[in-house]
Amino acid sequence: NLQARVPSSEIAELQKLSNSFNRMAQSLEGVEQRRRELIGDLTHELRTPLTVVRGYLEELADGSIDGSPELYLRLVKETRRLERLANDLQEISKAEAGYLPIQLKPFNLLPLLESLVERFKDQLLNDNPVLVLETEGELPRVIADSDRTEQILVNLIGNAIRYTEEGQITLTTWQTGDRLWVAVTDTGIGISEADLPYVFERFWRADRSRSRIRSGTGLGLAITRRLVELQNGQIEVESELGKGSTFRFCLPLA
Ligand code: ADP
Repeated sequence: NLQARVPSSEIAELQKLSNSFNRMAQSLEGVEQRRRELIGDLTHELRTPLTVVRGYLEELADGSIDGSPELYLRLVKETRRLERLANDLQEISKAEAGYLPIQLKPFNLLPLLESLVERFKDQLLNDNPVLVLETEGELPRVIADSDRTEQILVNLIGNAIRYTEEGQITLTTWQTGDRLWVAVTDTGIGISEADLPYVFERFWRADRSRSRIRSGTGLGLAITRRLVELQNGQIEVESELGKGSTFRFCLPLA
């Protein structure tokens, strides 16, 4: 009889130890489950561009089609997609494993917003969509990682541009309590109410056939959400199909 020989205080200790092992095992199971899902999703995403590239290369090789500039561009596009997938995947697996280096320091968001707006404006043809930064005066400093915050903004502004044929993209900021909020609002295709709960899930894309033309990976918003959370912030979305979307996130004030 164990209890006869071992003092009850030690039994309690052993019980605690066994509980914490159980919790560890459960959390490892969760990690393993997510890893399996990620590999499943990834396989699916890799297959499409690979099939397209292999198909064209085979036809080129056996002479059943001729190489045209359009064809080579298509091949380049699919290869770029694969490259982006590899980059995004590296980011998301690091973020999910908690290996994304984050350096939280006080910094001023305004110069970052201004330089990003300039950079994106240079890329937009005929100023379409119009990109507007609406801030009044100085901004209070936040405690965050400026590189990661830039990555968040690049993803959100990039999406707003990709999903807006024409119209306006507006960046606004405001303060509530001890947080600074930044919103990216577009007048683009919008997201239906039914789809909205899924936008931050990895590999999720509204209407895959249409989205594919827009050459995304479906990983951007999943990464973005992780980056916001790692900086103790929050991210939210509001959208209406055919009208446009607002993605807003907050960061703690310094
Ligand atoms: P993707 O690389 O496909 O853009 P994201 O994770 O960035 O991947 O976005 C997931 C999906 O959410 C997109 O495929 C698109 O359907 C939808 N989405 C994201 N941003 C917007 C936006 N600003 N307007 C409309 N739909 C959007």
